[in-house]
Amino acid sequence: MSIALAGKTYVIMGVANKRSIAWGIAQSLDQSGARLIFTYAGERFEKPVRDLVATLDGNHELILPCDVTSDESVENCFASIKEEVGTIHGLAHCIAFAKTEELAGNFYDTSRDGFLLAQNISSYSLTVIAKYAKPLMTEGGSIVALTYIGGERVMPNYNVMGVAKASLEMSVRYLAADLGKHGIRVNAISSGPIRTLSAKGISGFNTILHEIEEKAPLRRNTTPEEVGDTAAFLFSDMSRGITGETIHVDSGYHIL
Ligand code: NAD
Repeated sequence: MSIALAGKTYVIMGVANKRSIAWGIAQSLDQSGARLIFTYAGERFEKPVRDLVATLDGNHELILPCDVTSDESVENCFASIKEEVGTIHGLAHCIAFAKTEELAGNFYDTSRDGFLLAQNISSYSLTVIAKYAKPLMTEGGSIVALTYIGGERVMPNYNVMGVAKASLEMSVRYLAADLGKHGIRVNAISSGPIRTLSAKGISGFNTILHEIEEKAPLRRNTTPEEVGDTAAFLFSDMSRGITGETIHVDSGYHIL
């Protein structure tokens, strides 16, 4: 099951390990023949990301640091990409962070620092990335961000991250409105819960997974591969009429 993306170049931001949703996206795009560029958050992720990328079929040698809390880091990252490849056709934003202690208990206990940190890394990062990626999308492009239903409605313990996802989803729409005239589309995929490094921090995560298996229309949990295939669709011309949209890849759970 793959869409042809040969001759296109995409930046994958947010692979931490083989469970990362970004890795599911990378695998789908690799199978579609696309050229991939990877970015990682900090030094400790470099080796694991390089080792994983070496297992893909394609030869994706450009792997760069990009800490989204620093404008300079984002600017330098896209400057390096411009120097190395020139044009890109899209990017996958698969980045989020919140303090573990704020993914449990009462939302009203959220600290100012924790609130701003979650917004900074999980939401504002999309805007600053779009700003520095835009000049490289000279042939138009497609930006895909990852969100969760906890940005639309209250989900147990998702708290500060839910508010960050609401902000991310609205950023997707404002960016889509800005960038459409440049042929750049911006969309979000609202993924069902998947057991990843980030998800480990959410209190009661196993209960959520069981609830999806019991109640979602498809009676099973979402896989990174399903999200990856939807991202490939959003990167391809098959989705050329879609922008500012949030597509749920969650076994239908959101309709309940
Ligand atoms: P993950 O832990 O594998 O990925 C999160 C990534 O964010 C990591 O690669 C981490 O290095 C990166 N990151 C954190 N701080 C950063 C910084 N300062 N600069 C650059 N990168 C930074 O977990 P994941 O679940 O694959 O998360 C990817 C995306 O999917 C996130 O936006 C997450 O909210 C979203 N999502 C996850 C689920 C789920 O259940 N796992 C569901 C819906 C949406």
